[in-house]
Amino acid sequence: MAIPKSKAQQAKREDEAHAAVVSLHHGKRTHEIQLARLFSTIDRSVAFAYFACGSIGEYGARFGYSPEEARNLAAVGAALEVVPEIEVRLLDGRLTFDAAAAIAGIILRPDFAERRGEWMNLAGNSDLAQLRRKVRKALAEAERKEVVVPKTVHLTEQDEKDFFDARGRISRAEGRILSEGETIGWLSRVYLDRADPLRAEPGQRRVPDTRFVDSRYVPIEVRREVFARTGGKCAVWDCENRWFIDLAHLFPHSEGGHREASGLTPLCGMHHDEFDHGLLFIEGTADRPIFKDAAGNLLPGGPDATDTG
Ligand SMILES: [Zn+2]
Repeated sequence: MAIPKSKAQQAKREDEAHAAVVSLHHGKRTHEIQLARLFSTIDRSVAFAYFACGSIGEYGARFGYSPEEARNLAAVGAALEVVPEIEVRLLDGRLTFDAAAAIAGIILRPDFAERRGEWMNLAGNSDLAQLRRKVRKALAEAERKEVVVPKTVHLTEQDEKDFFDARGRISRAEGRILSEGETIGWLSRVYLDRADPLRAEPGQRRVPDTRFVDSRYVPIEVRREVFARTGGKCAVWDCENRWFIDLAHLFPHSEGGHREASGLTPLCGMHHDEFDHGLLFIEGTADRPIFKDAAGNLLPGGPDATDTG
């Protein structure tokens, strides 16, 4: 049985507990703010790519954070840059970290600049689910208008000259003078239409069946078919990488491998490397590959066992 304490002792205990809660909360927030800034730096500089990750979420998952945590940290870090007041509110408890993450997308948009204070107050006073709904609604409304984002770029003199020439030629072809921003959009679209097989128009194949052609060329229609299976991402079930994707040959050329869609699968650099080094095994068909590790265990995230029959 506990020894009864005096009222004064009891009150002292409670005060100490409360002081510790406040101090630990402050420490936890300080720590989170620091992490948020670091994640934002890594996200903005695309430094996650050095670790063969295609996104900040994937980077986070690799180093002990959930993808959502990592995205939230990066978003809050970026929002802190724009509105330093968020840090004050996080530290004094007027804003929870989840609420700050929920409004980060809005905080970062120049078209919401005048209403940032309003959103911060809302974030401090609403419950999280309600806040997220409001944010989604506001962003959806904003998306309906074409939003213009200011951007400063630094070009070498040569690139500036090339850009000027390109803008002139595109303007001539389009029959009107394009702004510099429109020119960047135009060039990006042209590049992506050419480089991203998912964006290319389906067309006639120009190269016959590659089983009979000695070349490393993979026809664009084959690339499109292979990438379409995974929506452009790495085929490994729980891998989200969609930036550094190779077409991997399921069978080596010497064993009858060819460059038809049935012999190809999209893999990120890391998984391609593992596959080449016998650390990743691919069974099944190109349409429904089954991934196993070197020990023969199924990798996580695969289709339900009842679904494979
Ligand atoms: Zn992968």
